[in-house]
Amino acid sequence: MANRSRFQAVRGTRDLLPPETALWNHVESTARKVFGTYNFGEIRTPEFEARDLFARSVGDETDIVSKEMYLFEIPLSDYLSYIEGIELSGIATTDATFVVLYFKFCVEASEELKKGRIPSSSNKELLEKFQSRREEIRSQLIDSHADLKDSLEFLRETIRKIDLGEQLALRPEGTASVCRAYIENSLQQLPQPVKLYYIGPMFRRERPQKGRYRQFYQIGAEVLGGQDSPAIDAEVIEMLMTFFDKLNLKGLELDINSIGHKDKTCRLGYIEKLREALLKISARFGEDSARRIATNPLRVLDSKAPNEQPLIETLPKITDYICDACKAHYEALKIQLRLRGILYRENWRLVRGLDYYMRTTFEITAKGLGSQNAVCGGGRYDGLVEELGGPPTKGIGFAIGEDRLILSLQEQAREAAEAQGTATEATNQSPLTAKQPPLIFIAWMGHNTYATAVRAAKDLRNAGFPVEVPPNELKFGKALGQADKLGAQFALILGENEVSEGMWTLKNLSDGAQVKLPEPELIDHLRNLGSTQRL
Ligand code: AMP
Repeated sequence: MANRSRFQAVRGTRDLLPPETALWNHVESTARKVFGTYNFGEIRTPEFEARDLFARSVGDETDIVSKEMYLFEIPLSDYLSYIEGIELSGIATTDATFVVLYFKFCVEASEELKKGRIPSSSNKELLEKFQSRREEIRSQLIDSHADLKDSLEFLRETIRKIDLGEQLALRPEGTASVCRAYIENSLQQLPQPVKLYYIGPMFRRERPQKGRYRQFYQIGAEVLGGQDSPAIDAEVIEMLMTFFDKLNLKGLELDINSIGHKDKTCRLGYIEKLREALLKISARFGEDSARRIATNPLRVLDSKAPNEQPLIETLPKITDYICDACKAHYEALKIQLRLRGILYRENWRLVRGLDYYMRTTFEITAKGLGSQNAVCGGGRYDGLVEELGGPPTKGIGFAIGEDRLILSLQEQAREAAEAQGTATEATNQSPLTAKQPPLIFIAWMGHNTYATAVRAAKDLRNAGFPVEVPPNELKFGKALGQADKLGAQFALILGENEVSEGMWTLKNLSDGAQVKLPEPELIDHLRNLGSTQRL
């Protein structure tokens, strides 16, 4: 048998390990701090939702929904399609064949119900009725003279009513869930707007490459309800830039655009103009763009194909076609950004791949990421909450790709280290991450000192110092070697003498200096060292 003991992380997923995770934590805690200063609160939504939530919001026709979602299997759905196929095929089939098919389906559904894999509330009574007639139908099937009409009707009716449950999907993005939660928890009753942020994994079955994963992390924020004032759009962008600034991430570029609203006098009118212009030159586009001309002409503007760029430049520009109200909103946004000292670049091709956007769209690109250089995308989505069954509600938000943000920070640290001619490793421990207190290794020797070592470790940890205590006694040299390997800055040496005298030895492993000090002074001594020298 093949050796199945070696498992690997699934394609497109990866493990995040220390010390890199310290950088992730730093990024996330900075987001929490900065977003908190703009009065945003954290929301945590489930990592899976009904598939239809995403189909409705992100859009059935988008790549995300049509190709990239991880879907949960619906029990018995294949069996049901099989039965429907036979019913529709018109192939002459006896009543007995259908009774057998339906009967088997009801048996399987009863099993699924027992396992809790199909909803109980809607199916329990129905399947109990089936169970009460199960034996009767079974004996009819054995008796070749039995009249099956009644049972056939009963079974057909039963399987028509069986509820197999909703199809679920791992979330590919966060906005839809936040809007669902806004409606479900009646957040419209709170003072508006409601300002929320989230941090967590998203899932898309994309082709993995650098900066593109199948499980990736987003840090996002949404402003829901209240007005659609351009000042809100600008403040959201300001918050983003402040966040990147606090992380000291350089070389970012902010692109903005307005894609108007979904109306013939605005975006829909533009799309028609665009399609007309595209059809005239469609033969000069590649296969992908040619397909999009028919399905979603706006997406042609996303094309990165070098030979298509000059063609795209000749196309009508959305900014010239949006309605007066949308134009005014866009102009006001630019004034608001300038007022805040935020540099931006207008990019009429920025249409974004999700259906729910309207008016303001924006994207931030970073250096050092190759082709996947977008670290953040966002925009306005008035109308989405209503589309999902809530009241008319304004909305705007963004999502930062945390994986890419981290890659960019690491790349920046690596370049800085190279420029300084220092070692390039340990870029994960970016100078950005808060300085950790020094690691202390307790080298205990002699059976009777172990209890003291355990007590010392507890006290030091209580005081906030990371501590390693070897579980077994080590010879002095070995203990120091081990301390060195672990990267400890200090060894606390506890031999029989130290313990009986109450005078402990602290050895600084970087310069070998040793001090003897009474137990009660140890923690203060370490704290003083921390404040007077770089540990
Ligand atoms: P979107 O939800 O598509 O607007 O994406 C927002 C941001 O999430 C992008 O700008 C990327 O930084 C990040 N992102 C999207 N898809 C992926 C992925 N497959 N892997 C890593 N980051 C991603």
